[in-house]
Formats: sequence, C-alpha cells, structure tokens
Amino acid sequence: MDRSFAVFPTHDYRRKREVRMKKHRSKKAWLDRHVHDPYVQRAVQEGYRSRAAYKLLEIDEKDRLLQPGMRVVDLGAAPGAWSQIAAARVAPTGKVFALDRLPIVSLPGVTVIQGDFTDETVLNALEQALEGQPVDLVLSDMAPNLSGIAITDAAKSFHLAELALAFALEHLTPNGAFLVKVFQGPGIDAYRQQLQSAFHTVLPRKPKASRSESSELYFLGKRPKRR
Ligand code: SAM
Repeated sequence: MDRSFAVFPTHDYRRKREVRMKKHRSKKAWLDRHVHDPYVQRAVQEGYRSRAAYKLLEIDEKDRLLQPGMRVVDLGAAPGAWSQIAAARVAPTGKVFALDRLPIVSLPGVTVIQGDFTDETVLNALEQALEGQPVDLVLSDMAPNLSGIAITDAAKSFHLAELALAFALEHLTPNGAFLVKVFQGPGIDAYRQQLQSAFHTVLPRKPKASRSESSELYFLGKRPKRR
C-alpha cells in the first residue's frame, strides 16, 4: 500500500500539537503571574474591577486628567476599572460613557454602550448618547485579541488607536485630552507623529502597573490643535 500521503497528516498533527502545547504553557505562565501579581491582589482588596485601575490612577496622579464635572469617554472599558475611577472623580455632575464589545456591569454615573467600536452603528450609538455635547477626556485602553504574531498585533492595535484618535478629534473640547494605549513596534513613530500634528502636547506614559515585559505604552495628547 502506498502510504506516502500519510507523511503530511502526521507532520501536520505534530505541528498542531506543538502549537497547542505552546499555547497551554503560555496560558499557565499567564495564570501563575496573574495570581501572584500584587496589582491583582490590590484590585481585589480595593474593589476595582481590574488591575488596569492602577495604570489610570498613576497617570491621573501625574497629569491631573480627571476633574469634577467632566464628560469622559472610555473606549475598551470592560470590565470597568477605568470607568469606576473616572465616574468617582467627575462626580457629582460629570458623566462617563463606557464602550466595549464585552458586557460591563452597570456603574453609577456611567452610560454603557456594548458593541465593537469599529462598527459604524456602535459609533452612532455612542454619538447619540453624547447628545451633541463635547467631551473633556477620551480614554482608550482598547487592545485587540492578541495572536502572538507581533506584526499582526501591532497593526490591529494601531488601527484601533487611529479610530480612537479620529473620534477624539471630532468630540474633544479645545482644552480636552486623549489617553491611548499602543504597543511598541513598527508603526509607533508614525502614530506618534499623527498625535503630534493633532495635539499641542504629546507625552509618553508607562505606568508601573504596566508590566515591564509588555510592549504596552500610553500616549497622552493634550489640547487638540484647531483644524
Ligand atoms: N480599561 C479597562 C479596565 O479598566 O477595566 C480594561 C480594558 S482591556 C485591557 C481592553 C478592552 O478592549 C477589552 O475589554 C476588549 O474587549 C476591548 N476592545 C478591544 N477591541 C475592541 C473594539 N473593537 N471595540 C470595543 N472594545 C474593544
């Protein structure tokens, strides 16, 4: 019997098994790190929905972004730690608009929009919620589902960051600010240049809670230039 064709399925099976094992090992490493992460433990103790809280708290402490009465849009908001912080700081008269494709359990002072930000109808729903009023601060902590292929992940992340920038430029007040997550890699210089042509001040931020081994970085743009 000619079994030569069997070479390919066996080879394919081995490769697939290797990929599965690699994924399993990296998931286990992530879980171990997560369980022992001091920011995760602090978030549980202090009632924040995720460790991401400490990134915004540190940036806000340095840059004084959140003030009472502000209107804030939080893109990629689930599970909601940034919205928790923003809602508390802008209270009692301010308002937070939180958008994510994942559900967000309701929070006082926060209007939740569930859907994909890249979807036109979801963007329209957010704009409707804003009722034509401008926004003081746009936050974007959106991160695509990572594939592990750096170049693909960077491209997806910059696509989201560009859409968030376009939204911010359309809705920010003249003294408004835009805080956006990006991943270091090809494309970051071009994105930074876009920010520099759009804002009077652009600052990089890498809060301590952002893991040093992660290529994650934030840019803060202040005071959009008039167009
Ligand atoms: N800042 C959040 C907090 O404080 O809890 C954590 C945000 S988490 C790092 C990134 C979020 O971006 C995820 O919840 C993910 O669903 C969301 N996201 C990614 N792509 C999105 C998209 N196209 N539209 C809406 N949300 C998106």
